[in-house]
Amino acid sequence: MRQSELFTKTTKEVPKDETSFNARALIRGGFIDKVAAGIYTFLPLGHRVHEKIKNIIREEMNAIGGQEIFMPALVPKDVWAATDRWDSFDVLFKLAGADKREYALGATHEEVVTPLLKKYVLSYKDLPKFVYQIQTKFRNELRAKAGLLRGREFSMKDLYSFHANEEDLGEYYKLAQKAYFKIFERCGLLDLTYLTFASGGSFSKYSHEFQTLSENGEDLIHICDNCDIAVNKEIIDEQRACPSCGNKKLREEKAIEVGNIFKLGNRFSKDFGFRYTDENGDKKDVIMGCYGIGPSRVMGTVVETHNDDRGIIWPEEISPFRVHLIGLKTQNSKLNADDIYNELLEAGVEVLYDDREVGAGEKFADADLIGCPVRIVVSERTLKKNSVEMKRRDGDDAELVGVDEITSKISDF
Ligand code: ATP
Ligand code: MG
Repeated sequence: MRQSELFTKTTKEVPKDETSFNARALIRGGFIDKVAAGIYTFLPLGHRVHEKIKNIIREEMNAIGGQEIFMPALVPKDVWAATDRWDSFDVLFKLAGADKREYALGATHEEVVTPLLKKYVLSYKDLPKFVYQIQTKFRNELRAKAGLLRGREFSMKDLYSFHANEEDLGEYYKLAQKAYFKIFERCGLLDLTYLTFASGGSFSKYSHEFQTLSENGEDLIHICDNCDIAVNKEIIDEQRACPSCGNKKLREEKAIEVGNIFKLGNRFSKDFGFRYTDENGDKKDVIMGCYGIGPSRVMGTVVETHNDDRGIIWPEEISPFRVHLIGLKTQNSKLNADDIYNELLEAGVEVLYDDREVGAGEKFADADLIGCPVRIVVSERTLKKNSVEMKRRDGDDAELVGVDEITSKISDF
């Protein structure tokens, strides 16, 4: 894409009340725009990143049998009342319809997905089933000051699994954990992310969170370095030791909860009378699990953890573009930056082409702020040597690469 055509611009002006690093960096780079506290527009650059994260999640959920659906954001009161959550779910946005009925904006979707599956799952032959969506969620969060980390409107992937028994749920639960780590690996968060034991509700002793270490995280976790797992501070008081090896020397760190998986048991199937017929003809409650991850929070977390004093440093797979091509003034050469741009496009490389009529300093500063993994500079000086200059965003050294070698070089640069 030509940067001259992008309707957004980088900016130095960030709303004063926007204190979180991720929001400030994303607003400055032209990735998001603040509408109100915890409410943002994703701009072209930010939308690309957000969609890439969602697609990674989608691929990994499909790989463990997930079937994608799309449930409504507007959820009638009666289903919330059926599970006793109309009053107890404290962050529900409630509204009245013209039909005088009450609704809540979906903050989670157990109340929609459970009656849905009840219509199709009748016998043990219909189980297990795995259903997910990637959708906007609404929560009336009291504190929405952390940019994309805590939105009032945010994106979530929520998968729900349905099983005949606890053993089957247990196996899928482990599979889902692996899939989550693949997601974090592809989003560049693997090294910083810990499987974290948290309180589990009524059905199981623990639930599991995926916590990414970050100075600006809201959560405190206690890490066991023997097992590479952690325990959430909120349960550590009763636990006081690693749940896996018993180690009592745990290290406290700040972290961001990027995902959360839960064994629900029959918590919701019971309320909706969702039962199946087993091999012996007996009726049994369907056993459920739920698996959440926030693509927008993942995006904010990546920004919090991948940056330097010049801007964001995107991991390869979720960068808005792989290459930021910078064209500087050329007069005497046969070739120019337009030619290199077209060549990259033809080779299928995702490239943001800075063809604006602004100074070199501004172009370099913007490229660092926006943070694509590879920068290519085309100038009179490089073209004299029939070359371009290539540099990684996370490296210091630029390399001259012959114009004929760019596309072959780019794949492993
Ligand atoms: P938290 O404890 O941070 O409030 P939660 O435990 O309520 O989150 P879940 O209901 O399990 O979160 O939601 C699943 C995932 O959705 C979370 O792990 C997180 O990635 C994301 N998420 C939840 N609330 C928000 C929010 N307000 N803004 C952005 N992402 C969110
Ligand atoms: Mg939580």
